[in-house]
Amino acid sequence: MNGATSVNGPQHAGATGPFAWIAEQDRTRRAAGLRRELRPRPAESALLDLAGNDYLGLTRHPEVTRAGADACLRWGAGATGSRLVTGSTALHAELEAELADFTGFEAALVFASGYAANLAAVTALTAPGTLLVSDAANHASLIDGCRLSRATTEVVRHADPDAVAKALDGHRGAAVVVSDTVFSVDGDAAPLAALAAVCREYGAGLLVDDAHGLGVLGAEGRGAAAAAGLAGAPDLVCTATLSKALGAQGGVVLGPAAVIEHLVNAARTFIFDTGLAPAAAGAALGALRLLRREPERAGRSRAVARDFHRRLTGAGLESSAPDACVVSVRAPSADSAVAWAAACRAEGLAVGCFRPPSVPDGVSRLRLTARCDLTDSQVADAADIIVRTAPRP
Ligand code: PMP
Repeated sequence: MNGATSVNGPQHAGATGPFAWIAEQDRTRRAAGLRRELRPRPAESALLDLAGNDYLGLTRHPEVTRAGADACLRWGAGATGSRLVTGSTALHAELEAELADFTGFEAALVFASGYAANLAAVTALTAPGTLLVSDAANHASLIDGCRLSRATTEVVRHADPDAVAKALDGHRGAAVVVSDTVFSVDGDAAPLAALAAVCREYGAGLLVDDAHGLGVLGAEGRGAAAAAGLAGAPDLVCTATLSKALGAQGGVVLGPAAVIEHLVNAARTFIFDTGLAPAAAGAALGALRLLRREPERAGRSRAVARDFHRRLTGAGLESSAPDACVVSVRAPSADSAVAWAAACRAEGLAVGCFRPPSVPDGVSRLRLTARCDLTDSQVADAADIIVRTAPRP
């Protein structure tokens, strides 16, 4: 590495000069046992992966990787520029048309990531005076979108349509209610139909992030809006990522054509970002076509999640009922969550571990993700390992 020091190396010089304050933060983090380290994942791992978000088992599906590789060979390794300059290809247009068709929205616009799509949607749907009403458990990218918009943001109790109504009541002018469809830590679903009804009553727009719902929710995986019968509604905008169920990379905003056109002209993360890489676009399109041919993948992934939940709660662990593929298991403390994840790893199981600052203090947990390609015996063995390695009270 030409003498460069890796942040993962056993030691580095430490921050000095104008960055010396970083050392203090680092000490605090270490003392609290909350320091994070990057752990490169081997290409071929013996671990059973319940930590990623490859819900439909598509990221290594030969049809999907082939579609990505073909797109790379045809269109190049990068998009070469912003979508508004050189970064739009026929492949992007094809992907957008198929995503809109699949989810039931009028139009779609793809972004380099789901994070960028959320920043775009929140900021571009906000005019001076707009009130944003944001669920307390929303993903960081929605929170950052609210901050970046500089609009007045009212954070409301998690999954509480009455709290949303209260926030909207008395506000004159435009308002947008912002919510995940499936919350990324606990895996619970937002009360979408009730939120939509409240929004209609108050004339507010509804913006939902279906990162964990696209490909998973609904009979054919068409996502939360379709599952709730709301897809294509004129007052609904939906974002999603191409990096979870679709196994690729990138993000998308779905909504009325007029809103999508507005994003092309107003969303800074669209205008000033290099377009989605062709390989990612091609892989996402390949995954989408495969899902349309094999829609049973969606239902199977949810059944696996329910099976995990049943086994874990049956053994006395605390896990909220999963509405999609995210299964969250409560740990007594941040330290015990880290130790629990390490014990699982030692037994051949990779699980996620959420602790502050990703989650509030006192609610650390393991996070498992269900995948449609897990066999019943893999689910049984994995649940067994989690139960066996659980911290003793
Ligand atoms: N929204 C939610 C709910 C997510 O969980 C994530 C991914 N962690 C994102 C948005 C961001 O998507 P991407 O990883 O494609 O940037």
